[in-house]
Amino acid sequence: MTMTRPARPEPGQWRDFRELAALQDARLPVIADAAARAPFYRARLGDAVPRTRQALRDTGLTTKRDLREAYPFGFLAVPRERLATYHESSGTTGVPTASYYTEDDWADLTHRYARKRVGIGAADVFLVRTPYALMITGHLAQATARRAGATVVPGDNRSLAMPYARVVRLLHDLGVTLSWSLPTEPLLWAAAARWAGHQPGRDFPALRALFVGGEPLTAARRARIAEIWAVPVVEEYGSTETGSLAGECPYERLHLWADRAIFEVHDPRTGTVSPEGRGQLVVTPLYREAMPLLRYDIEDDVEVRYEDCPCEWHLPTVRVSGRAGVGYPVGRATITQSGLEELVFGLPLRYEVMFWRARARPDGLRVEVEVPDRHRSAACGELRAAIRAGFGVDAEVVGLVPGTLVPYQVLTAQPDVVKPRSLFGPEENWDNALLYH
Ligand SMILES: [Zn+2]
Repeated sequence: MTMTRPARPEPGQWRDFRELAALQDARLPVIADAAARAPFYRARLGDAVPRTRQALRDTGLTTKRDLREAYPFGFLAVPRERLATYHESSGTTGVPTASYYTEDDWADLTHRYARKRVGIGAADVFLVRTPYALMITGHLAQATARRAGATVVPGDNRSLAMPYARVVRLLHDLGVTLSWSLPTEPLLWAAAARWAGHQPGRDFPALRALFVGGEPLTAARRARIAEIWAVPVVEEYGSTETGSLAGECPYERLHLWADRAIFEVHDPRTGTVSPEGRGQLVVTPLYREAMPLLRYDIEDDVEVRYEDCPCEWHLPTVRVSGRAGVGYPVGRATITQSGLEELVFGLPLRYEVMFWRARARPDGLRVEVEVPDRHRSAACGELRAAIRAGFGVDAEVVGLVPGTLVPYQVLTAQPDVVKPRSLFGPEENWDNALLYH
């Protein structure tokens, strides 16, 4: 049995933020009634199903802890046989967070993922370089690209079968046109490409764009990745529990898909929730069958703004800092990863700095960057000055030989997965009998 659903809106079909809110209000009772069919919400809400905006505001947040405690099917709102996929994401606690989708949910998921300023078409060769195991990200990119008629290259990024040297070979030999990965990946590919004798901005002429997500990304790092590969970097934001939540308009701003979900911002210190501002993102997806969520606190640090954009999508913009926005005290300053990242990637391209790490202590900051010998003193001096100007901190900046933070063996090795085996010859190593490795 498949429910017929109303056509979903697309950007451009509402004239302003008021019409957008009206569209959300019209959809809210449908999703609230759907949620009330799940055991978790049935127990929590009773008869108080929040069919209006005001009632929704009076409904408690759904936390990651709620999701974990309801493992595996406490949020299930349809008969089990209607499920198409089951996913998990594991937080730092290691307790799984389950999520599941019907085929109709998948239509919504792929529509949202496809909303990019660089479109996916039949001529594209699309390298999916995010996890396939349990998480949604790899499957989401794959399903969307297949629907668009593209050729999918299922690369994964947590598989022994796909070392960086193999990624570079595929990017180069297949003429990959689009890729989907964490933003750190194209930097690693660039280093691996150079080890393989290729120039990233020159020797991959088929490449059209790099789609990235899953990791906070500053404007400076994004610009650097685009410079290195000489293609646009297109960002997207989402989670395994929700799918895509935001994407870039033609003017390169990240907009929340507020026609597909109601977004709020939660301040964990005061407990207040407001439609915009800084805090943690709270989401109520408006098209969801298998697992409706009411006010799900995704716990990413964001800044949401309702502002005009030349795209005229009339969708709020979002800046995502995630945990990278968490500060560490050094002296009287507070150092954030995103703040430091801006400075590191603000160094000139010619210094070839791509990899860095830092340790913040109350009495000092140590920053290590990989940089070739010929640029070491200039790069370290400029970064030290930028940190002093930006944070008022005299940091210890250390230039490392390239290959120190990201060993070249990792970038050049060609291991492959070996199938299980039981019988060995007289001199053969049988330590890994039966095991994949
Ligand atoms: Zn825009």
